[in-house]
Amino acid sequence: MLEVNGSPAEAVGLLMVYSWPGPVPPGARRGTVTMLRCARCGGSLFHTMAKGRPRQEDHEQGCDAFIKAIRIMRYVDEMKRSAPQSAGTRRRRKYLRQSAKELSAAARDPDPVAAVTTLGDAYQAECETPGKRGEVSATTGLAEALMRACRQLALGQDPGPITVRPG
Ligand SMILES: [Zn+2]
Repeated sequence: MLEVNGSPAEAVGLLMVYSWPGPVPPGARRGTVTMLRCARCGGSLFHTMAKGRPRQEDHEQGCDAFIKAIRIMRYVDEMKRSAPQSAGTRRRRKYLRQSAKELSAAARDPDPVAAVTTLGDAYQAECETPGKRGEVSATTGLAEALMRACRQLALGQDPGPITVRPG
């Protein structure tokens, strides 16, 4: 039985080795490349990987993973738009940039729901772990907002624009 880090379902079916017809992507050996497949519809995430964001071409019509991925991406775009005005300190802006990267990676994941749930847990842990003084007040509000947003995105709900409390 193949088992890698937890459930066998995670190891089987998501990763497949393909022969690559076109130009070899950076870092890949000629001939084969490890291709991710959507956890729901099984479509290869070729366009998603190439464009760096979820693409309909990779999924069956109405694929639940794609719909949720798009919602995550919309949230990321909104975050990027609002970050320059809303975030006061450099640390907060940096934190928002980093979080936007993490969330867009979750949107490209073969299982966006699992990825965004994991991310939500990480933000929750951050809220609950007292850090160095100053650091906590600068980003705890953001971590809380992101945790709530991740929970809603995992359910397929729209969290709305990120609201950042002053502090
Ligand atoms: Zn899909």
